[in-house]
Amino acid sequence: MAITKIQNIAVMTSGGDAPGMNAAIRAVVRAATYYKKDVFGIFRGYQGLIEGDIERFTARRVSNIINRGGTILKTARSAEFRTPEGRKKAYENLKKFDIDALVVIGGDGSFRGMKIFAEEFDLPVIGIPATIDNDINGTDFSIGFDTASNTAMEAIDKIRDTASSHNRLFFIEVMGRNAGFLALYSGIAGGAEDILIPEEDRGINELLNSLMRSKRSGKTSSIVVVAEGDKTGKNVFELAKYVEKHLKEYEARVVVIGHIQRGGCPTTLDRVLASRFGVRAIEALLDGQTRKVVGFKNNRIVLYDLDIAIKKQKPVNQELIDIIEILTT
Ligand code: ADP
Repeated sequence: MAITKIQNIAVMTSGGDAPGMNAAIRAVVRAATYYKKDVFGIFRGYQGLIEGDIERFTARRVSNIINRGGTILKTARSAEFRTPEGRKKAYENLKKFDIDALVVIGGDGSFRGMKIFAEEFDLPVIGIPATIDNDINGTDFSIGFDTASNTAMEAIDKIRDTASSHNRLFFIEVMGRNAGFLALYSGIAGGAEDILIPEEDRGINELLNSLMRSKRSGKTSSIVVVAEGDKTGKNVFELAKYVEKHLKEYEARVVVIGHIQRGGCPTTLDRVLASRFGVRAIEALLDGQTRKVVGFKNNRIVLYDLDIAIKKQKPVNQELIDIIEILTT
């Protein structure tokens, strides 16, 4: 490892919360301590940094958090950080604590803020992708996605029990304003009849056709998973009404899973991913790296350019889309 002058490293969580963020904080704090660096927790993301909400963390400060959802550092959105004045205040607070490097655990918005901040003040920064939407480009998986897709799948499983008892059609809305990963994974795992995602925009007629096909093939109940950002399913209640009107044989119901998808104990995969990301982020900083994001690609932990994470939309895996029709035959 190259020798850098970095001694004091700060970590924050920012933007939307995701299960596994605590495991990442723990890994960052423990790795920094292991390499004999001092580490600071910044509370409430960029807003907390602007307000000087900073605490020196020891390795023991992060005991008993690996299993907890949410984030002990809290998270926030900060309009003030979008202004040069806000970022100047934030930098002055870093200097007060002699902090010379920053790890940001968050989504693409947080990474955008991190890039501008790093450029303005020439501060070494590394991002750790955490979002239940899994929409950060350059990494196959982000912290929180596995837990959230398992939570959504369990909800779908429970709804399936009542759907099959009553011969009903259920529309289940899962989170995902711009990305369909959560819908695709939970939908395939939950045996959904159809999955509507923002990346595809297949339109109402194709949905009606697929539901008619499934009725003809002898199915008596069906589950359609809808990502909240899908155009056809933008208003899932209207969609259900429309389908009921056009397919009289169906009695439709709607379930919006909502915020339970964000909470809960992180899964093994999320805890291990977060632990690996946290250690790699610290090692990257100590190796003299900056403006990079840690990622998981082809079963390996990688380090890649921040611009890849924020400049391009992450494409959905076409193979997942292709198998839906085959699996619902
Ligand atoms: P996420 O990280 O989950 O995508 P947001 O998009 O809400 O969440 O971003 C989190 C925070 O990052 C914002 O509240 C803001 O403080 C900061 N941020 C996002 N984009 C920018 C930007 N272009 N310039 C400065 N700060 C930004």
